[in-house]
Amino acid sequence: MKKRKTERWWKCSLCGYTVQLTEPPEQCPGCKQTCAFTDVTCYTPECGGSGNIDPKLMGGGNT
Ligand SMILES: [Zn+2]
Repeated sequence: MKKRKTERWWKCSLCGYTVQLTEPPEQCPGCKQTCAFTDVTCYTPECGGSGNIDPKLMGGGNT
């Protein structure tokens, strides 16, 4: 039996680009830098489950 990889949402720490992949990309498609990607996948029913981005993680920071 094969395990299905779960797709997650990744956000570039530099430009804020978000992409849905099983693993974070080595190079950001947005700013073409090798940057750190943050997992912004939703893990609560509030934002609709793992197929969605958690708006709380996206909005975190200096607002
Ligand atoms: Zn980027």
